[in-house]
Amino acid sequence: MNKKLAFFRCGGGLWYISFGDARILKVPVNRQKMKILVVEDEKKTASFLRKGLTEKGFAVDVAGDGEEGLRRAQSGEYELLILDVMLPQRDGWSILTELRRQGRQTPVLFLTARDAVPARVRGLELGADDYLVKPFAFSELLARIRSVLRRRSAGQSQTLHVADLELDFVGNRAAGAGRSLDLTPKEFVLLALLARRKGEVLSRRIIAEQVWDMKYEGESNVVDVHVRRLRSKVDDPFKTKLIHTVRGAGYVLQEAH
Ligand code: CA
Repeated sequence: MNKKLAFFRCGGGLWYISFGDARILKVPVNRQKMKILVVEDEKKTASFLRKGLTEKGFAVDVAGDGEEGLRRAQSGEYELLILDVMLPQRDGWSILTELRRQGRQTPVLFLTARDAVPARVRGLELGADDYLVKPFAFSELLARIRSVLRRRSAGQSQTLHVADLELDFVGNRAAGAGRSLDLTPKEFVLLALLARRKGEVLSRRIIAEQVWDMKYEGESNVVDVHVRRLRSKVDDPFKTKLIHTVRGAGYVLQEAH
């Protein structure tokens, strides 16, 4: 029998319906689409950035004021933040200062006005990764974004230690107190995500998106099941417990709770 297929895009996935056996399947597309948060109150600039970056394959969210920008940036969903300096409610400096105070190392690219040259230096001192003077050419922005992201990934080391836990990102292996841990590939990805973002509470939604590339629907317990299994290997045999549940929020990997 010839099956009829219909394809449609929705919610970051390519779906198809097969009429032959009434299946609806989601095939994830654009795996690992990089998420960028733009905090910009000028509507024209914001929509120019959203449009341009989306066309270049980034997933873009826009926040129109400093408070919303900080709140979103704290979700930990973004690979890069583009911050305007002058913003309603909370300025770009203050967002960056607060994020770095919380230990969040998301790269930040500042947009500054031409007459604010000394301010650029301040941004870099506060921990910004780069700045761009308005008005700027989109190609210039893109070049800066790529260079920030490249620097960041080059700076990521190939092994990571947290207490007695050692992660080897080249061999995709983990060891606890020198003993090799028998992890499935997904368990390793989950552990690597938690370890790379040590001290940061990750929601089930973020974990589901990053590890399984799936939309978290709330009723699914896939994250909890895998965290439980991971704990039985990473924490149960050892004295120091690393993976902690934060009620109502998610999971965090840290040495002390
Ligand atoms: Ca502004």
